[in-house]
Amino acid sequence: MKRIYREADCATGALDGRTIAILGYGSQGHAHALNLKESGYDVIVGLYEGSRSLERARAAGLKATVTAEAVKAADVVMVLLPDERQREVYENDIRPYLREGQALAFAHGFNIHYQAIVPPADVDVFMIAPKGPGHTVRSEFLAGRGVPALFAVYQDYTGQAQSRAFAYGAGIGSARAGLLETTFREETETDLFGEQAVLCGGVTELMKAGFEILTEAGYDPENAYYECVHEMKLIVDLIYEGGLARMRDSISNTAEYGDYQTGRRIITEATRQEMRQILREIQDGTFASKWMQECATGQLSLKARRRLEARHPAETIGSELRSLMSWHNKD
Ligand code: NAD
Ligand code: MG
Repeated sequence: MKRIYREADCATGALDGRTIAILGYGSQGHAHALNLKESGYDVIVGLYEGSRSLERARAAGLKATVTAEAVKAADVVMVLLPDERQREVYENDIRPYLREGQALAFAHGFNIHYQAIVPPADVDVFMIAPKGPGHTVRSEFLAGRGVPALFAVYQDYTGQAQSRAFAYGAGIGSARAGLLETTFREETETDLFGEQAVLCGGVTELMKAGFEILTEAGYDPENAYYECVHEMKLIVDLIYEGGLARMRDSISNTAEYGDYQTGRRIITEATRQEMRQILREIQDGTFASKWMQECATGQLSLKARRRLEARHPAETIGSELRSLMSWHNKD
């Protein structure tokens, strides 16, 4: 197994007395800013002029200002803006104010790896990428635990880039669970592949296909929703806790036999070929340039598809069924 760095491996001195700018106050931004502050760091949140998050960050007890001012004040600049906005904000509000010896940090490698952002040679560039949503980064920290994270050093100008990354990873609580070394390339390519082929694209199409086939055949949509959407979480929770074996322990023998009989009829050699092709399009930059083009033209196809997906019958029936399970709506 690859070495996983824990809290005891992370000397935190590299950021002692340093100021950390957190650009963006969304999912990751609010969690990093609050966790770092509570770990004793001087944190300043940077947002665009007029952002409603300025007040939210201040109400949470954080210092908050416009992006350029936060960059000027900071030793480490963590960029937690939407990936597609980072290049523009970098050119206008970060790059002009960067100083020698600062560190520029990211939670995802996309812009550095595909060279939408090319940092100057005299700053450190590192990544701390928590393997979980920002809200979990925050709630795990509050519970005394942490979400594991990947770390990578792209550029080490000061000789301190790795120890800065470790101190940052410890500060957000991730080193409690473990920091795994990677590269910007590996993180970017595996992240894109995972979300497209497995976690987001793969899972949602599988659930919708199951739902559609059952309802086309005349079964109730309520039944189809419970079976193909609702139960996904219960199955995945068991895998998360104890691997495939725990899940298969907990399902009936009938379900386990059916699982072995059928899985490979769904993920066929043709599906695997397509998955390999998806990976190639990520590796050769085809996907990245399509996405950048989409962003340059107002994300029209993204927005159209979002509207269409919201009208899928599994979504309509799902929201009715979920409203009966009030414990789902705790926040
Ligand atoms: P988000 O969309 O939740 O938040 C982005 C924040 O940036 C918001 O506060 C928004 O108001 C602000 N913002 C938008 N445009 C801005 C501008 N022009 N100037 C200043 N601020 C602006 O984003 P997120 O999901 O937290 O993602 C941030 C980074 O973290 C991305 O690189 C993403 O890939 C990475 N990441 C996200 C997750 C996740 O689960 N959400 C997990 C790992 C890594
Ligand atoms: Mg990911």
